[in-house]
Amino acid sequence: MERGSAQATPAGAAVAADGASGTTERGPPAPARRHRTVLIVGNDVPRRQALAAALAAGRLEAITADWGNAALCLDSFRPSALVIELGTAAPVSLADYRALRARAPRARVPTIALAATVDAATVDAAARDGVTEVLPQSVEPGLVLHRLGNLLRVHDLLRGWRTSESRRRAIAEALPDTLLRVDAHGTIREVLALGRDGLGLALDVQGPGRRLDDLLPVPADCSFAELCATALARGTGAERELLRPGGDNVQAIDFRLVPIDAGHGLVVLRDISHRHGSDTVRRALHYDSLTGLPNRARFMSRLEDALGGQPRRSSVAVLRLQVDQFRRIEQSLGPAAADELLAEVGRRLIGMTEQAGGTPASAAGHVAIAGRLHQDAFAVLAVDLRGRDACDTIAEHIRSQLARPVSINGRDVRSTVSIGISLWPENGTDPETLLRNAALAANHARVDGTARLYTDTMRLRSLRSLDVEQQLQHALEAGQLSLQYQPKVDVARRRLLGFEALLRWESPVLGRVSPAEIVPVAEQCGLIQPLGEWVMRQACLDARRFNRDAAAPLPVAINVSAGQFAGGDVASTARRAIDMTGIDAALVELELTESVLMQDVGSALRVFHDLRQCGIRLSIDDFGTGYSSLQYLRRLPVNALKIDRSFVKDIADDKSANAICTAVVTLGRSLGLEVVAEGVETVEQASALRARGCTRLQGYLIGRPMPATSVAAWIGRGEWQRAIDRTELPLRAEY
Ligand code: C2E
Ligand code: MG
Ligand code: MG
Repeated sequence: MERGSAQATPAGAAVAADGASGTTERGPPAPARRHRTVLIVGNDVPRRQALAAALAAGRLEAITADWGNAALCLDSFRPSALVIELGTAAPVSLADYRALRARAPRARVPTIALAATVDAATVDAAARDGVTEVLPQSVEPGLVLHRLGNLLRVHDLLRGWRTSESRRRAIAEALPDTLLRVDAHGTIREVLALGRDGLGLALDVQGPGRRLDDLLPVPADCSFAELCATALARGTGAERELLRPGGDNVQAIDFRLVPIDAGHGLVVLRDISHRHGSDTVRRALHYDSLTGLPNRARFMSRLEDALGGQPRRSSVAVLRLQVDQFRRIEQSLGPAAADELLAEVGRRLIGMTEQAGGTPASAAGHVAIAGRLHQDAFAVLAVDLRGRDACDTIAEHIRSQLARPVSINGRDVRSTVSIGISLWPENGTDPETLLRNAALAANHARVDGTARLYTDTMRLRSLRSLDVEQQLQHALEAGQLSLQYQPKVDVARRRLLGFEALLRWESPVLGRVSPAEIVPVAEQCGLIQPLGEWVMRQACLDARRFNRDAAAPLPVAINVSAGQFAGGDVASTARRAIDMTGIDAALVELELTESVLMQDVGSALRVFHDLRQCGIRLSIDDFGTGYSSLQYLRRLPVNALKIDRSFVKDIADDKSANAICTAVVTLGRSLGLEVVAEGVETVEQASALRARGCTRLQGYLIGRPMPATSVAAWIGRGEWQRAIDRTELPLRAEY
């Protein structure tokens, strides 16, 4: 008999195998493998046959048998699924099916039971005995066919999955590597193989939930959490060679990350210590591969040795060097060029440690050790310092050596370093303290781009910043912040131009804290965005109130710091505040300093255009103090320039301040920009400004910053007209 043809045989097969006739005429037929075979077991012959016909129509080979022959047919036909009928003509129960499964292991295939009653108890009991699905006996045969199709598909998928899973396990076991599935935070989600080289066990990777950063030596350039986040987001892999110290032995580990999807990756770890000679591995552990300088650990241990061997009276200094604007260089020239720059810094520092005498710097002292601490931070130990200014001389020497241009891809790249200096033993007796204090001094040096010697005030200031940071988070939530408003007037047209919003914080713990202190701390600790958002919303709300009964529009100017501008989406924040408060965008002005152009001029310009497109006015605050390029200024879509208070202050008696004010007024006029002078305190300053054509004034002479609730009364009392009159008084009175 041709068993392969499903349509041709079901009924025949039924007769052949069917014990209903009392005997099996031709014995069990040869097993059929080409088509999916389903064995229908039941004692109701017509019903079995009807079912067989329906299955055959669905291209399944149906074999039917009564319960007496079921085991025999299972062995002979090896069906892919079973359909069993329970208790109709002869009472057959689940016990019979249980017995069948016990006798014939091939009964453990997807099984549909057709039962007289289908209730929760029957389904539960059937499931416990291994039945996959229970249907009522009255069910249409076509539906049984449909369900069988689904069961077989799921069964096939499961079987395929089991096969590939056991293959995967075999491969994992055959490889020497440790395999881990990690998420985008660098946390282990699954340990797939522990590695035949024993690395997995040595690292104790057992059990998901551990972080790679806690298990592996963290690479110099970024943490594993950052590495996984960026590599998986980009869908790229990552490779690193890691060195793991352990007593005298150093283990070299090959780390590979292969993305699985955006949220998961496969980490492959292999011990490759044998590939390197032990010297190479040791060198790599102590030296930075990019610059050849001692790395942080090596520098610290050499520093410790050097300090231990110093006579108490000798003078020793630790200098911490920070490459200025490194991120900017990296962003504009690319990481390879940035690496080249760092390598050159390293070469020059090595040159200095090898330099013999003969220079003014060598007369002042000697650069004994240089090291790379991380990315763009280096450190130097200077010994045998002679004379009071020895440190400055050495720092100046280092700065001038590093300031020489570096040729990268045919382009001369200039970079400078900020240097912080700490002295041994005055500023610390151990390497950690000395380096920490030098780092603190380097932060101060960065502000003015020089070298700075550590002072205790720096530590106090940094402690104060820590206090401010801790209280600020709470202040935002507790509503301790407020805004005050300072008026601006046009004395020529006798008009009130609007108000500038200025942040105020009365802290119950720290007392009054000035915005000049709050803003840098907020920028450093990541609070500048929520703070900036609050200021914008509050200022827009207040501006709406001021304008409700105002005779003429009263724009409100909001200060935006460079860090706030660079770290967030100022245009969206402003749009949100405007939408939320329903204020007219033309009544909102943003005051930005020139330093917002420092990070990335192109994207700053785009944001300026976005803001102007929304109808928001823009002005450049503290103009003249920053990095002003006429080239950019010409292209900036701004409405006004604000002459910095420092120039206004000295306008009457300092020639250069006077010249700068005149120049800004002329510049503003030629570019079609308004010019506002800030910090006008005296009648003299006001008349000097007027004489130079600057008639828009702001300062204590016009009005001090006031709470929002006082603005209406201040206007109502005619204070601003009185202020304008004051600027015209002939007497030289100080306000
Ligand atoms: P700014 O924007 O240049 O504001 C002018 C500063 O000078 C204000 O100091 C103001 O109170 C003060 N001032 C105004 N007229 C005179 C005067 O005639 N004489 C003197 N001696 N001072 C005058 P304040 O409020 O301490 O703010 C300092 C700086 O903090 C501001 O300089 C601004 O850059 C920043 N700032 C203030 N509020 C905010 C804010 O909400 N967000 C951001 N990002 N920065 C703000
Ligand atoms: Mg301002
Ligand atoms: Mg200003």
